[in-house]
Amino acid sequence: MNVLKKIFKEIKKHKRIVLARHIGPDPDALGSTLGLKEIIINTFPNKEVYAVGTPAAKHKYIGELDIFDESLYDDALLIVLDTPDIKRVDGLDPTRFKKRIKIDHHPMVDDYCDIEYVVDTASSASELVIELVYNTPLKISKEGAEKLYIGLISDTNRFLYSYTKSRTFYLASWLLKKTNIDITSLYEKMYIMPIEEKKLQAYAILNMSITDNRLGYLVLNQEKLDELGTDAATMTNIVNYLNYTEEMISWVIFAYDKNIDKFRASIRSRGPVINEVATHYNGGGHIYASGARLNDFAEVENMIKELDKVCEEYNNNN
Ligand code: AMP
Repeated sequence: MNVLKKIFKEIKKHKRIVLARHIGPDPDALGSTLGLKEIIINTFPNKEVYAVGTPAAKHKYIGELDIFDESLYDDALLIVLDTPDIKRVDGLDPTRFKKRIKIDHHPMVDDYCDIEYVVDTASSASELVIELVYNTPLKISKEGAEKLYIGLISDTNRFLYSYTKSRTFYLASWLLKKTNIDITSLYEKMYIMPIEEKKLQAYAILNMSITDNRLGYLVLNQEKLDELGTDAATMTNIVNYLNYTEEMISWVIFAYDKNIDKFRASIRSRGPVINEVATHYNGGGHIYASGARLNDFAEVENMIKELDKVCEEYNNNN
């Protein structure tokens, strides 16, 4: 039996299902989880389905999350989406569930589930959920399709990144054909932002340092964040808006996060492979999009050096 059929069989078998994803969720983590929830309920209205984890105010428009109750460990099926490493599963301990499924598009880190549906060339976890629905008797719903489309669009940056394959377009097209979702209104929800946030993007561009090897970097300590009236999550997210700057082949934003007393780093690239460097600093991710958590400014300096070296090697070979 192929993996998609196996996943469907488990969904069909269990009355209670818990859907989880990684800490610090992005629209793909939330869209894949909340979209799958809608679709399971649409197919099996009598099932209890919980999409759990800490909410992210910025992405509230994708949907509401459920409270996790310890009693669910006993008999629920766990499906974890978009999370390669067990330590980054948000809000629960996967090992306490009897049956676990993973649906993920990151390079493999931990093999922690009974069924591992991992395709590291897929554009997004949402694309894999659409693939699951496409290939099994799960019934797509309009609301579910909207959430999955948000996840797919967000992780591909509107079909921009290299993991966008003909299959990605095919599945997106299938989704639209089946449900006729209003993509314009979804884009409005996804991309609207206050001018203050645009000004922070401008600040980042104006203050980026760029090395001879074409690494762009910006380091923000607490004092600077206070001065700008912002926080680490908002500032590191700005890396997503800096692509296609001629002078940078890789770029990283570091911001001190007082909640964890560490520097967060968000790293992007359009050539050099960066996820290995991220793993040296309590991080990981995709080859061209990674994140890390650094203990202090000395580690920030070391990471800049390592990323610069990766850029240098890339330049020498290309
Ligand atoms: P971000 O820069 O936070 O948007 O993350 C980019 C990618 O790296 C996502 O796939 C994240 O799941 C992954 N990532 C971010 N931070 C970490 C971390 N501390 N450890 C492992 N993976 C991470």
